[in-house]
Amino acid sequence: CGIVGYVGTKDAKEILLRGLEKLEYRGYDSAGIAIANETGVHVYKEKGRIANLREAVDETEAGFTGIGHTRWATHGVPSKLNAHPHQSSSSRYTIVHNGVIENYEQLRREHLVGVEMVSDTDTEIIVQLVEKFASESKTTEEAFRKSLSVLKGSYATALLDNQDPNTIYVGKNKSPLLVGLSDSVNVVASDAMAMLQVTNEFVELYDEEIVVVTQEKATIKTLDGEEVSRASYVAELDS
Ligand code: GLU
Repeated sequence: CGIVGYVGTKDAKEILLRGLEKLEYRGYDSAGIAIANETGVHVYKEKGRIANLREAVDETEAGFTGIGHTRWATHGVPSKLNAHPHQSSSSRYTIVHNGVIENYEQLRREHLVGVEMVSDTDTEIIVQLVEKFASESKTTEEAFRKSLSVLKGSYATALLDNQDPNTIYVGKNKSPLLVGLSDSVNVVASDAMAMLQVTNEFVELYDEEIVVVTQEKATIKTLDGEEVSRASYVAELDS
Protein backbone atom coordinates (compact mmCIF):
# COMPACT_ATOMS: atom_id res chain seq x y z
CA CYS A 1 0.00 0.00 0.00
CA GLY A 2 2.90 2.31 -0.70
CA ILE A 3 5.49 2.91 -3.37
CA VAL A 4 9.02 4.29 -3.37
CA GLY A 5 11.51 5.06 -6.11
CA TYR A 6 15.13 6.22 -6.13
CA VAL A 7 17.52 7.54 -8.80
CA GLY A 8 20.79 8.72 -7.34
CA THR A 9 24.33 8.04 -6.27
CA LYS A 10 23.99 5.50 -3.47
CA ASP A 11 23.02 1.87 -2.95
CA ALA A 12 19.38 1.95 -4.08
CA LYS A 13 18.34 -1.32 -2.41
CA GLU A 14 19.13 -0.11 1.10
CA ILE A 15 17.30 3.20 0.62
CA LEU A 16 14.27 1.46 -0.89
CA LEU A 17 14.09 -1.14 1.90
CA ARG A 18 14.31 1.58 4.55
CA GLY A 19 11.66 3.56 2.70
CA LEU A 20 9.33 0.56 2.64
CA GLU A 21 9.87 0.04 6.37
CA LYS A 22 8.65 3.62 6.91
CA LEU A 23 5.49 2.75 4.95
CA GLU A 24 4.74 -0.40 6.96
CA TYR A 25 2.20 1.49 9.07
CA ARG A 26 -0.11 1.68 6.05
CA GLY A 27 -0.60 -2.09 6.13
CA TYR A 28 0.50 -4.66 3.51
CA ASP A 29 0.60 -8.38 2.75
CA SER A 30 3.72 -8.56 0.59
CA ALA A 31 6.57 -6.39 -0.63
CA GLY A 32 9.10 -6.14 -3.40
CA ILE A 33 11.83 -4.07 -5.02
CA ALA A 34 13.50 -3.88 -8.44
CA ILE A 35 17.03 -2.59 -8.95
CA ALA A 36 18.32 -1.39 -12.33
CA ASN A 37 21.93 -1.38 -13.46
CA GLU A 38 23.91 -2.04 -16.67
CA THR A 39 23.23 -5.78 -16.41
CA GLY A 40 19.46 -5.33 -16.38
CA VAL A 41 16.63 -5.05 -13.88
CA HIS A 42 16.61 -7.44 -10.93
CA VAL A 43 13.36 -8.17 -9.09
CA TYR A 44 12.99 -9.39 -5.50
CA LYS A 45 9.62 -9.98 -3.88
CA GLU A 46 8.19 -11.90 -0.93
CA LYS A 47 4.94 -12.50 0.83
CA GLY A 48 4.82 -11.18 4.40
CA ARG A 49 7.12 -8.80 6.22
CA ILE A 50 9.71 -6.41 4.79
CA ALA A 51 12.17 -8.41 6.90
CA ASN A 52 11.50 -11.44 4.64
CA LEU A 53 12.17 -9.30 1.59
CA ARG A 54 15.36 -7.93 3.11
CA GLU A 55 16.58 -11.50 3.56
CA ALA A 56 15.76 -12.42 -0.01
CA VAL A 57 17.67 -9.51 -1.55
CA ASP A 58 21.14 -10.42 -2.80
CA GLU A 59 23.65 -8.56 -0.63
CA THR A 60 25.87 -7.90 -3.62
CA GLU A 61 23.01 -6.37 -5.63
CA ALA A 62 24.37 -3.01 -6.75
CA GLY A 63 22.49 -0.25 -8.51
CA PHE A 64 21.72 3.44 -8.22
CA THR A 65 18.15 3.22 -9.54
CA GLY A 66 15.17 1.27 -8.23
CA ILE A 67 11.52 1.04 -7.28
CA GLY A 68 9.76 -0.59 -4.31
CA HIS A 69 6.26 -1.56 -3.23
CA THR A 70 4.16 -2.76 -0.35
CA ARG A 71 1.00 -4.52 -1.54
CA TRP A 72 -2.48 -4.62 -0.12
CA ALA A 73 -4.06 -7.17 -2.46
CA THR A 74 -7.21 -6.19 -4.32
CA HIS A 75 -6.98 -8.51 -7.37
CA GLY A 76 -5.31 -11.88 -6.82
CA VAL A 77 -4.50 -13.49 -3.48
CA PRO A 78 -1.54 -12.34 -1.38
CA SER A 79 1.35 -14.45 -2.71
CA LYS A 80 4.89 -14.13 -4.01
CA LEU A 81 3.59 -14.48 -7.58
CA ASN A 82 1.10 -11.63 -7.20
CA ALA A 83 3.50 -9.41 -5.24
CA HIS A 84 4.93 -6.43 -7.13
CA PRO A 85 7.09 -5.59 -9.10
CA HIS A 86 5.54 -7.16 -12.21
CA GLN A 87 7.30 -7.46 -15.57
CA SER A 88 6.19 -7.36 -19.20
CA SER A 89 6.48 -10.51 -21.32
CA SER A 90 9.91 -9.60 -22.72
CA SER A 91 11.07 -8.40 -19.24
CA ARG A 92 11.90 -5.02 -20.74
CA TYR A 93 9.51 -3.19 -18.41
CA THR A 94 9.05 -3.55 -14.64
CA ILE A 95 6.27 -1.89 -12.66
CA VAL A 96 4.88 -1.29 -9.16
CA HIS A 97 1.37 0.02 -8.61
CA ASN A 98 -0.93 1.04 -5.79
CA GLY A 99 -4.62 1.33 -6.54
CA VAL A 100 -7.21 -0.45 -8.62
CA ILE A 101 -7.54 -0.61 -12.43
CA GLU A 102 -11.28 -0.92 -12.96
CA ASN A 103 -11.25 -1.63 -16.70
CA TYR A 104 -8.39 -4.14 -16.80
CA GLU A 105 -10.50 -6.94 -18.30
CA GLN A 106 -11.70 -4.70 -21.09
CA LEU A 107 -8.16 -3.41 -21.78
CA ARG A 108 -6.92 -6.96 -21.94
CA ARG A 109 -9.54 -7.90 -24.56
CA GLU A 110 -8.93 -4.72 -26.54
CA HIS A 111 -5.15 -4.55 -26.61
CA LEU A 112 -3.56 -7.71 -25.25
CA VAL A 113 -5.05 -10.69 -27.05
CA GLY A 114 -2.44 -13.47 -27.09
CA VAL A 115 -0.34 -11.94 -24.31
CA GLU A 116 0.16 -14.43 -21.50
CA MET A 117 -0.39 -13.07 -17.99
CA VAL A 118 1.81 -14.39 -15.22
CA SER A 119 -0.10 -13.01 -12.22
CA ASP A 120 -3.74 -12.57 -11.22
CA THR A 121 -3.35 -8.83 -10.62
CA ASP A 122 -4.96 -5.89 -12.36
CA THR A 123 -1.51 -4.25 -12.24
CA GLU A 124 0.09 -6.58 -14.77
CA ILE A 125 -2.18 -5.14 -17.44
CA ILE A 126 -0.38 -1.77 -17.12
CA VAL A 127 3.10 -3.14 -17.73
CA GLN A 128 1.91 -5.30 -20.65
CA LEU A 129 0.20 -2.23 -22.16
CA VAL A 130 3.44 -0.24 -21.91
CA GLU A 131 5.28 -2.99 -23.76
CA LYS A 132 2.57 -3.19 -26.41
CA PHE A 133 2.43 0.59 -26.92
CA ALA A 134 6.23 0.87 -26.87
CA SER A 135 6.31 -1.20 -30.05
CA GLU A 136 4.12 1.49 -31.66
CA SER A 137 5.67 4.60 -30.03
CA LYS A 138 8.91 6.49 -30.35
CA THR A 139 9.78 6.49 -26.66
CA THR A 140 9.03 4.74 -23.39
CA GLU A 141 7.64 7.98 -22.03
CA GLU A 142 5.13 8.14 -24.85
CA ALA A 143 4.12 4.51 -24.34
CA PHE A 144 3.74 5.12 -20.60
CA ARG A 145 1.55 8.21 -21.10
CA LYS A 146 -0.57 6.37 -23.64
CA SER A 147 -1.01 3.42 -21.25
CA LEU A 148 -2.09 5.62 -18.35
CA SER A 149 -4.52 7.53 -20.53
CA VAL A 150 -6.57 4.37 -21.25
CA LEU A 151 -6.74 3.29 -17.58
CA LYS A 152 -9.86 3.80 -15.49
CA GLY A 153 -9.34 3.72 -11.76
CA SER A 154 -6.69 4.73 -9.29
CA TYR A 155 -2.93 4.47 -9.51
CA ALA A 156 0.34 5.55 -8.06
CA THR A 157 2.76 3.70 -10.26
CA ALA A 158 6.47 3.56 -11.08
CA LEU A 159 8.09 1.97 -14.14
CA LEU A 160 11.62 0.87 -15.05
CA ASP A 161 12.88 0.29 -18.61
CA ASN A 162 15.81 -2.16 -18.72
CA GLN A 163 17.20 -0.27 -21.72
CA ASP A 164 17.69 2.82 -19.56
CA PRO A 165 18.84 2.08 -15.99
CA ASN A 166 19.06 5.79 -15.11
CA THR A 167 15.39 6.75 -15.37
CA ILE A 168 12.14 5.95 -13.60
CA TYR A 169 8.71 6.91 -14.91
CA VAL A 170 5.94 7.55 -12.40
CA GLY A 171 2.27 8.36 -12.74
CA LYS A 172 -0.57 9.27 -10.42
CA ASN A 173 -4.36 9.30 -10.35
CA LYS A 174 -6.44 9.33 -7.15
CA SER A 175 -3.61 7.75 -5.13
CA PRO A 176 -1.03 9.87 -3.32
CA LEU A 177 2.45 10.40 -4.82
CA LEU A 178 5.22 12.92 -4.16
CA VAL A 179 8.52 13.67 -5.84
CA GLY A 180 11.52 14.41 -3.61
CA LEU A 181 14.42 16.54 -4.84
CA SER A 182 18.07 16.66 -3.81
CA ASP A 183 21.54 17.17 -5.32
CA SER A 184 22.19 14.45 -7.92
CA VAL A 185 19.36 12.43 -6.35
CA ASN A 186 15.64 12.41 -7.03
CA VAL A 187 13.07 10.16 -5.41
CA VAL A 188 9.36 9.39 -5.35
CA ALA A 189 7.14 8.11 -2.54
CA SER A 190 3.53 7.70 -1.47
CA ASP A 191 4.40 9.48 1.75
CA ALA A 192 7.20 12.00 2.42
CA MET A 193 8.11 10.01 5.52
CA ALA A 194 9.57 7.23 3.37
CA MET A 195 12.14 9.55 1.80
CA LEU A 196 13.04 11.99 4.58
CA GLN A 197 16.18 9.84 4.78
CA VAL A 198 17.16 11.44 1.43
CA THR A 199 15.54 14.88 1.32
CA ASN A 200 12.93 17.17 2.85
CA GLU A 201 12.19 19.02 -0.39
CA PHE A 202 9.12 17.69 -2.15
CA VAL A 203 6.86 18.50 -5.08
CA GLU A 204 3.23 17.47 -5.06
CA LEU A 205 1.75 15.67 -8.06
CA TYR A 206 -1.76 16.13 -9.35
CA ASP A 207 -4.04 13.54 -10.89
CA GLU A 208 -3.21 12.40 -14.41
CA GLU A 209 0.36 13.62 -14.28
CA ILE A 210 3.55 11.72 -14.94
CA VAL A 211 7.11 12.45 -13.90
CA VAL A 212 10.26 11.40 -15.71
CA VAL A 213 12.82 11.08 -12.94
CA THR A 214 16.58 11.03 -13.48
CA GLN A 215 19.52 11.95 -11.25
CA GLU A 216 19.59 15.46 -12.66
CA LYS A 217 15.91 16.32 -12.83
CA ALA A 218 12.29 15.39 -12.31
CA THR A 219 10.13 16.55 -15.22
CA ILE A 220 6.39 16.70 -14.59
CA LYS A 221 4.06 16.37 -17.58
CA THR A 222 0.39 15.91 -18.28
CA LEU A 223 -0.75 12.69 -19.98
CA ASP A 224 -0.70 14.72 -23.22
CA GLY A 225 3.00 15.40 -22.78
CA GLU A 226 2.79 19.05 -21.80
CA GLU A 227 5.42 20.07 -19.30
CA VAL A 228 4.16 21.38 -15.95
CA SER A 229 6.15 23.57 -13.56
CA ARG A 230 5.34 23.54 -9.87
CA ALA A 231 7.18 24.90 -6.85
CA SER A 232 8.60 22.55 -4.26
CA TYR A 233 7.99 22.79 -0.49
CA VAL A 234 9.93 21.77 2.58
CA ALA A 235 8.33 18.94 4.56
CA GLU A 236 8.39 19.67 8.28
CA LEU A 237 8.11 16.16 9.63
CA ASP A 238 10.16 14.07 12.00
CA SER A 239 11.77 11.08 10.32
N1 GLU B 1 -4.51 -3.72 -7.28
C1 GLU B 1 -3.15 -4.08 -7.11
C2 GLU B 1 -3.00 -5.51 -6.64
O1 GLU B 1 -3.91 -6.10 -6.14
C3 GLU B 1 -2.38 -3.12 -6.16
C4 GLU B 1 -2.83 -3.20 -4.72
C5 GLU B 1 -2.16 -2.17 -3.83
O2 GLU B 1 -2.56 -0.98 -3.87
O3 GLU B 1 -1.21 -2.52 -3.10
O4 GLU B 1 -1.98 -6.08 -6.78
